[in-house]
Amino acid sequence: MVVLFIFLLGLIFGSFANVLIYRLPLGLTLSGRSYCPSCKNKISWFDNVPLLSFFLLRRKCRSCNQKISFQYPLVEFICGLGFVLMYLLFINLSNSFLVSIKGNIGFWVLPYLLFIFVILLAIFVIDLKKRIIPDGLSYALLIIVLIYLLIAKDIFFVNLFSGFVCSLFLLFLHLVTKGKGMGLGDVKFVLFGGMFFGFPLSLLWLFVSFLTGALVGVILILVKKAKFGKEIAFGPFLIIGFYLTLIWGETILKLLF
Ligand SMILES: [Zn+2]
Repeated sequence: MVVLFIFLLGLIFGSFANVLIYRLPLGLTLSGRSYCPSCKNKISWFDNVPLLSFFLLRRKCRSCNQKISFQYPLVEFICGLGFVLMYLLFINLSNSFLVSIKGNIGFWVLPYLLFIFVILLAIFVIDLKKRIIPDGLSYALLIIVLIYLLIAKDIFFVNLFSGFVCSLFLLFLHLVTKGKGMGLGDVKFVLFGGMFFGFPLSLLWLFVSFLTGALVGVILILVKKAKFGKEIAFGPFLIIGFYLTLIWGETILKLLF
């Protein structure tokens, strides 16, 4: 029952992630009812039920019959799954990194992880499609992690420092590649991740992200979906690396050392 509730909650927040994904790159405000991107007609609440409406409407807008993108139900569904995954991590804490967060904020570790998931999902899709990471989303993540660090106290400076090390490293790459390899959006975004993971997990996070990025890059070149030297958005890899590190980071560190 709880898992089902968390999944439905995830669908609703997935619907919110879709709003972020559509409106932020266009510079639109987040307030105001949802409307169809083609005919701009407002969408009634019964046509705006996550996942369900897409299928009931047979993926067409009620007013203009324009096809609705698969991105909407997909993002909602992934958000539902992600929420369940975060919940399972929360009730089955076997990893000492998460245990230490729970030690600092107790139950709030769950809302903390869920909030981060929604924002990271939005960044993932926006960066994949538009090759940008909206500042607003990076700042939202920074604020939440700063609040956590202020409560946690002990790790405040270590984690702050880790954040700046990650950021400076990407800034360095940004400068030597003359902005081709790494965008300034990535530089601002990793400040959050470094502060979230602290030392040494933040370094592992960057390492895992570069490794997955390189691996996928090679595969894309081999199947001729990408050309060597052509830019690929790095944000999605940082996010995949984020969850690999969150779930298996400590196990990987133990295996390495
Ligand atoms: Zn329409």
